[in-house]
Parts: sequence; C-alpha cells; structure tokens
Amino acid sequence: MAKSKESKDFLRRIVEEDLKSGKYKEIVTRFPPEPNGFPHIGHAKSISINFGIAKDYNGKCHLRMDDTNPTTEDTKYVQALQDAVEWLGFKWDGDVRYTSDYFDRLYGYAQDLIRMGKAYVDSLDEETMREYRGTVTSPGKRSEYANRSVEENLDLLERMKNGEFEEGAHVLRAKIDMTSPNMKMRDPLLYRIRHAHHYRAGDKWAIYPMYDFAHCLSDYIEGITHSFCTLEFENNRDIYDWVIDTLQLEPPRPYQYEFARLNINYTVMSKRKLLELVEKKVVNGWDDPRMPTIAGYRRRGYTPESILTFCEQIGIAKANSVVDVSQLEFCIRDDLNPKVPRVMCVMDPLKVTITNYEGREEIDASYYPHDVPKEGSRKLPFAKEIYINREDFSENPPKGYFRLTPEQPVRLKYAYIITCKEVIKDENGNIVEIKVEYAPDSKSGSDTSGIKVKSAIQWVEGESAKKVEVRLYDRLFKVEAPQGIEDINPDSLKVVKDALIEPAVITEKPDERFQFEREGYFYADPVDYSDDAPVFNKIVSLKDSWAKKTKKPEKQKQEVKPQPKKKAQIDGEVAPMSAKEQALYERYTKELKLNNTVAEMLARDAKLSVFFDEAIAVHNSPVNIANLVANDVSRELKTKEIAKLQFTPAQVAALVKMIDDETISTKIAKEVFEAMATEGADPVVYVEAKGLKQISDPAEILPIIDEVIAKNPENVQKYKEGNNKLFGFFVGQVLKATGGKANPKVVNELVKQQLEA
Ligand code: ATP
Ligand code: MG
Repeated sequence: MAKSKESKDFLRRIVEEDLKSGKYKEIVTRFPPEPNGFPHIGHAKSISINFGIAKDYNGKCHLRMDDTNPTTEDTKYVQALQDAVEWLGFKWDGDVRYTSDYFDRLYGYAQDLIRMGKAYVDSLDEETMREYRGTVTSPGKRSEYANRSVEENLDLLERMKNGEFEEGAHVLRAKIDMTSPNMKMRDPLLYRIRHAHHYRAGDKWAIYPMYDFAHCLSDYIEGITHSFCTLEFENNRDIYDWVIDTLQLEPPRPYQYEFARLNINYTVMSKRKLLELVEKKVVNGWDDPRMPTIAGYRRRGYTPESILTFCEQIGIAKANSVVDVSQLEFCIRDDLNPKVPRVMCVMDPLKVTITNYEGREEIDASYYPHDVPKEGSRKLPFAKEIYINREDFSENPPKGYFRLTPEQPVRLKYAYIITCKEVIKDENGNIVEIKVEYAPDSKSGSDTSGIKVKSAIQWVEGESAKKVEVRLYDRLFKVEAPQGIEDINPDSLKVVKDALIEPAVITEKPDERFQFEREGYFYADPVDYSDDAPVFNKIVSLKDSWAKKTKKPEKQKQEVKPQPKKKAQIDGEVAPMSAKEQALYERYTKELKLNNTVAEMLARDAKLSVFFDEAIAVHNSPVNIANLVANDVSRELKTKEIAKLQFTPAQVAALVKMIDDETISTKIAKEVFEAMATEGADPVVYVEAKGLKQISDPAEILPIIDEVIAKNPENVQKYKEGNNKLFGFFVGQVLKATGGKANPKVVNELVKQQLEA
C-alpha cells in the first residue's frame, strides 16, 4: 500500500478504481493453475500478482485447480501447487477449489444456453469443421447441424455425457458468429467427448468442458472480481464476456485483464517441456535444483523472499519481453549476502604440512564480515596438517597470481602466514603435498611479522575437517533461447565428492545456507543431507560468471584494459584491512553510503582515498565521484604516478557535477574523461568547445523522434502488435541521430509518448 500512485502497476490501478467507484465492495482474485505439472517461476509471477493484489487491498485470493483435462492431471501436481503457494508465503481463502467440483453447475449452464438457442450439438467431422471455420481473411460458414431443435440438442448432450458416443462424434458449440473477425468467436467449442477417468470426478463424465466455457463460469461461481491472466488469452476475452452476458447471470460479475507472461533467457518455461526433461531423465525430477520450478529453486536454496523480490522488480507490463536470468541470480545473492554465515570449504584438497608447528590450537573466527549486522563466531581448529585448495598453490604462477607459490607467502584466512619450503610429487609429477613454515608472529589480528602477502586463502585442519559432497550447478541450458533437450548445457551439474569443510558447519549448524568463502552460496540439500554424509547444493556464485561469456565482441575490446582491483577483491584474495583502512571503510559505507566493494577499494588504496576526499570537498556527490574514482581514476593510477596525472580532483568533481545536473550524459562523460586523461583537457571547457551538452529540450528531440518513426513504419506496426523489444530500437535510433547527446531519460519518455499516440 505504501507505493506511490505513479509507481503502481496497471492492474492495481484498475483494482483501486473499482473499489473507489463502488463496483465491488471487496476484491476477489484467483490463481488458477492446471494441475498437469509442477509450477515454475512464471507461475510465481502469477501467484505474486494474484495473492499480492488481494493482500494489498484486503481482499481474498482463491487457489483453484483448473482441472478440466482428465488425461494429464494428477494429485501430485495439486500438492506441488499448494506447496509452492505456501512456501512463497501466501494463504488462499477457504479450501483449495477445483473446477471439477463445478461440473454439475457448468452442465446446467450449458443446458441453459441450449434452451436460449445459443448453443448446439455439432456433428461435423474435425476436418470439415476446420474448413467451415474460415481464415483470418475470409469468413466462416455455420454447420448445418446448428439448426437442431432445443430438444434434440438437450437429448444429444445428455447422451454425450453418459458415454453413448465415440470421442469426436459430437461437440457442443456456442452459437455466436461465424464471420467474426475474432476467430475465437466463430462458434467456439464448449464441450467435447472424452472417455477418460478423471483423477477426482472419477468416471461420471464422458464429456469435459473447454477452458473458454469453464474458466469464466468458475470465476463467476466463486465471486471472483478480477480475473488476471496472461496476454495469450487476450482474444479469449470476448468469449469470456459473451458467456457471462448471454446467460444473464446475476451481478456482480468478474472481468478479465491480461498481463505479460514472464520469459527468462536460458530457461524453458512450459510445463510440457519441463515434463519432457523429467520423463527423459535429463534432470533428476521436478525438484532438481537446475529446474526453473519453484520446487527446484527451493531445493537449490533460493529463498522465497528472493523470488518475490524478483517478481516485484520485473514488474507487471502489458507487453511480453524476456528477462535476463542474471537478474534472478542477483536477487538471491542480494538476499543472502546480509544474512548467511561465512565458512571455509576446500573443494579440491591439497595436503599442507606445517613443519615448524607443534600441538593444536583453536582460532576464534566470526561467522559474519564487519558489514553484516549479525553476531556469532566459531572455533577453527588449527594444527600441523591442513588442507588448502589445489588451485591456491602454483609452482609456475601466471602473472598476477596472488596466492601461494614457492616464492610468495600467503595468509591462511583468520590464521597465520605460511611460506612454501618443499613441493612433494608422485612418480607422475603430480603434486601430492607441500611442506611449509608458518610465521608464529603473523597471526591474524595481532600480526607483527612485517611479512607482505597479496591474499588470504581458505583452509581446513586435517583431523577435524568433515568430508562433504558438493553439487555445483550451472545453468541448465547453454543458449539464450533454448527450445528443449537439444540445448542442454552438458556441464550443468558437477559433483565434487571429497570436499572438506570446517567442522562447525556440521556440528554447530549456524544456518542451512552459507557463503563458502571465495566459492559462492551453498545450501544443505534438504533431501540428501545427513550429518554422516553431508551434501551441499551451490545456490549461486559470488558474482555473475556468465556476464563475460555472453558479452558482444565489440565490448570485449574494452576488457583488455587493465581490470580494476575490484575483481580480486570479490575473489577474496586480499589481506585484512588495517585499522586506518577499516575506519575509512566505515566512514565510506555508513556516512557516505558507498557500496561495499567501492568503499573497500578506496579505503585500501591511500592514493585513491586522498584523491576521492579532495574531489568530494569540491562537489559533494560521494557515490558518483567514488564510482568514477574506483573505475576510471584507478585505471590511470595503475600506470602513472599521482603527480603525473593529467587531471586534478577538482576537475573530476567538475565532470561529475555536469553529470549530476544533467548537462552531459554518462556516455558523453566517458568521452570527456578520456580527453582529460590523455590530453589534459579541462572538462568544462572541453564540453563547451565540442558542443557536447546534453539535449533535454523536448522541442529539439521531438522532430528527431518523429523522423525515426516516419522512417520505420514496419517496426511501428510490429511494436503496436506487442513486440515491445522494438522500443529499444527506437530509443537507440534517436540517440544515434543526436550523436549520443540527447538525454536518454527524456528520449525514453518521448518515444513512448509518440509511439502510443
Ligand atoms: P505452461 O504453458 O507453462 O504449462 P500454463 O499457462 O498452461 O503454463 P497454467 O497452470 O494454466 O499454466 O497457469 C496458471 C496461471 O499461471 C495462469 O493464470 C497463467 O496465465 C499463469 N502463468 C503461467 N505461465 C506464466 C508465465 N510464464 N508468466 C506469468 N504467468 C504465468
Ligand atoms: Mg497450459
């Protein structure tokens, strides 16, 4: 309810209008799945809309199994649907409802239509019926059976119901209009014969109602006010209204409204296709953690909050589009980051013997980093024999390798610094063990050793560590728009049998979900986990590992440039911060509200933090200045001394000021920065001289938009027919025509306005 009026979606605005005008006293929505498969993330969207709206307006939401198709339905799907709704945190009003409970009433309504001369039993064979229907460009022709008398129709329908005829011998049709431009209105089917056992209704019925007849009437019977469905039912709305109007049912009556279906790249979202994956055993059942089913996400370790946040973020629109799967992954990462304990797990253990260490000790280590407002710590056993990750040691390290090498010491996170002394190999030359020495005065928190390390790595103590199975999941499909089994990612599951984890995870169980340091987020598998044979599922990596792989070639060029330090930090390859750095970090995150990564990067680098502080003294825009310093200035400082920089903090401040007051776009700002860095240009002078000022005046932009629209009539047509991907095309064309100088925000608004005019 807290949402402001403009930010409300169009469905909520309709509901609000209807309550205000007194059309309904209370709103009633429904989530009406067909129980023929497990619900998927698309259903989560529908659930969040139907239950969410009912909740927001103190109404009710029903859970109705739309079970009119006897051959595909099953009680196990009914159960899965209930579980999904409950897990997402919603409660349906009253009992679960079933369309099959209304079969008798629906039959009565069909008889009413016959009596009104509005429905008839047709006996054309399928092919003739199709032929008579006509095409989009030519009208159809009504069947000769449409002239049957009311008595004959009633009698035939009754005998159809009792199973006297073969499947396909007759159907019941509405008598509407065989010439309607809406093909769905050309005497649509209301009932067909099916000699099938129904999982709830048993063998009572040999006819089953069609969606177009059953759905609107079930809504009416239940007192639904707003019937929300996906866009593909837009053409069915006429039948929805026709059935209810023709029967002259007592008000109030429900109305149908359509919203865009959720599509996600790298994901298939049709129960039929998902069923195929299950039946062909491409996955291990409906709740396989790689499946986009709610049961799959749940088993993988996603939280209901993360899925609901995702549904909220994608919003409710009237045009179909494809959402990037990384957005969902972002939501779960963002949800877990401030919640879960950090622990150490070694995926590919390599034995390390600390030759100068004797005895045992226990090291106190917090479960949470300083920026997570949670308390709790555990003891890490430490002794002579430990394990580290095989890839955290390199005999011939590549450039930029920060971890342990024969020459380079490393910190064992929370513990001591170790230095490699000897590498032991088997007869094939494989490293089987390394011998190291530790620095006794280097203990984390009281380090006086003076030894410099470039990173801290995870480790476990040999005797106390527990063996665990870790299931590493990746995307199930390897292509953006998968069709089915042929597009499966063969590496979507990798099982690590012999990982080692610190003991507290099993003995103390501080949580079910963890961040395994430097690896990702993990969840104790709710089915296969036991303390004797622990199993963990990878929920999501620490960062988006697909973003790079899918970048377009022209963007890859930029990536050759030296990477900002950020990457290494996310990997966790860093030593703890000093007290001074820590204080700066606190100030940056708490006072200046910088994000953690940027704040840490600045705090750790005195050159950057000094530069930053000087810049914000000139123009107080900490977040934007910090981003520029962390990304662009830091890149310059990689190769140059601070005194050799071509620009001053005050000039960077001036540049950001122009972005902030919308004098220039962020895109142009990049160009200006390049000129500052390479030619020592002054930003204000440069912008003025090159005429780079952003154009925000509609009077200047509108003619360009109109020209682009006039030049692309076909795309305008396609956009109007629902291909909203083309919106980006228009915006892009306009921006291009202005040399990137038009204010994108203004362009977006104006393009929308002109296209919808
Ligand atoms: P599928 O094609 O995957 O089998 P469906 O539409 O046949 O899905 P139903 O069980 O009939 O599945 O759907 C129940 C409700 O969920 C319907 O109101 C439907 O519109 C909605 N729904 C299904 N898929 C999506 C989706 N991808 N995005 C949003 N809503 C969806
Ligand atoms: Mg369906």
